[in-house]
Amino acid sequence: MPRINNAYASLSSSYLFSEIARRVRAFQAGNHGKDVISLGIGDVSQPLVPAVIEALHRAADEMADAGTFRGYGPEQGYAFLRRAILEHDFRRRGVDLDEDEIFISDGAKSDVGNFQELFAPDAVIALTDPVYPVYVDSNAMSGRCGGYAGGKWSRVVYLPCTAENNFEPDLPETRPDVIYLCSPNNPTGTVLGRDALRRWVDYARENDAFIMFDAAYESFIADPEQPRSIFEIEGADEVAVEFRSFSKTAGFTGLRCAYTIVPKKLKAAADDGTVLSLHGMWLRRQSTKYNGCSYVVQRAAEAVFSPSGQAQTANVLNGYRSTAAMMLQRLGKMGLCAYGGIHSPYVWLQTPDGMPSWEFFDLLLNRAAVVCTPGAGFGASGEHYVRMTAFNSPENTSAALDRLASVL
Ligand code: PLP
Repeated sequence: MPRINNAYASLSSSYLFSEIARRVRAFQAGNHGKDVISLGIGDVSQPLVPAVIEALHRAADEMADAGTFRGYGPEQGYAFLRRAILEHDFRRRGVDLDEDEIFISDGAKSDVGNFQELFAPDAVIALTDPVYPVYVDSNAMSGRCGGYAGGKWSRVVYLPCTAENNFEPDLPETRPDVIYLCSPNNPTGTVLGRDALRRWVDYARENDAFIMFDAAYESFIADPEQPRSIFEIEGADEVAVEFRSFSKTAGFTGLRCAYTIVPKKLKAAADDGTVLSLHGMWLRRQSTKYNGCSYVVQRAAEAVFSPSGQAQTANVLNGYRSTAAMMLQRLGKMGLCAYGGIHSPYVWLQTPDGMPSWEFFDLLLNRAAVVCTPGAGFGASGEHYVRMTAFNSPENTSAALDRLASVL
C-alpha cells in the first residue's frame, strides 16, 4: 500500500464546525425546520463596496483587450497594490518597510498555514489557548506537534488566555522557537496593547524566537492609539512576520486577497550553520509553489485604498462594530459577562454558572434556536465560553438576543 505522511493520521477531523452543523441539522429535523439564527458565523455578510465592484469591472475589461491583458503576474504581487499597502497601512502609522517585504497572496489562512514549512521539523511552537485552529493544525500536519492526547499536543507550548490574565498570554516558562500571536484575537475578540506586544518582541529577541503575528482583524481596531501592526514596536522587524487580509477589512472572503510582511532582517540558521534570510526563503517557497492572486482581484484590493473605497469600507466596518456594541450592551443587561467586541467582530461570552460550553450551546440551540460557537472547540482554556460574532444583520442579531433573554 502507498505510504502517507503519518502526521495526517494523528490529526483529529475538523470536529468543531462539523459537529455544530450536525447538531443544528438534528434540531431542525426535530422542529419542523424552525428558523435558526446564527451568531456563530465567521464570514462577512455585507457585499463588496461599490469602489471595489467598479475596479473589478474595469480590470475585467482590461483582460478582454490584447493591449491590456495580463497573464502571470509578478511573484510577490503587483507594484500598484504593494505601494498602496505600504503607504496606507504602514507609512501613515510611522512604519517603514521596503516594498518587496510585502508578499501579496490569496489568503492569510494559506500564508499562515504555509509559513511553518520554513521552520525546522522539530521546532517547538507556542500557541495561545484558545486559538485559531489553523496555527496548530498546519504544524501538526508537518509532524511538529508530537502526540495528541486529552485535547493537547505533547510538543506544543500552550499560552492560556483567560479573564484572569486579561486575555494577554504570559511569557512561557519553556522557550519555544516560534510564537503565534493574533490581535485582535480570534476567538476572544481582545487586543494586545503596545506594552504586551513590546514584551513579546523583547522576549523573542532575547530568546532567538520568531513571532507569527496574525493581524487579520486589525481594521476593527477602533482606538488609534492601539498598535495595528507588530512593526509599530521597535525591533519587531528582527523577529516577526505579519499576516494581513482583505477578507474582514473589505469583505474579500469570497474574492480572496491578503498579504504577508516578511522583513529582510529576519535570519535563521540551517543545521550546518548556514545563515539564511526568511525573506529569501519565503520568496523561494512562494515562487515554487504559488502563482499569485489574480490581476483583477489585486485591482479590486487596490480600490479599497481609494478615498471612496476607504469611506465605503469604513461604513461597513462601522455597521459590524455597532452590532457588536449592541451585543455587548444587551448581554451585559442580561447579567452575562462578555469580553472582546470593541476592536473586533467577536464577542467572547462567559457561560452562566460555569456551564460547559457545549452544554450552553445546546441550551441556546434547543431553547432559543440560536447558534453560537462553543469555546472548548478553540482549546482547553475556551471551556466555559462561547464565541458570538457581529457578522449577522443587526435585525437578526437583535432577534437572537431577544430569544436569548427569554431563555435566560
Ligand atoms: N486569521 C484569522 C485569525 C482568521 O480568523 C481568519 C479567518 O477567519 C483568517 C486568518 C483567514 O483569512 P483569509 O480569509 O485571508 O484566509
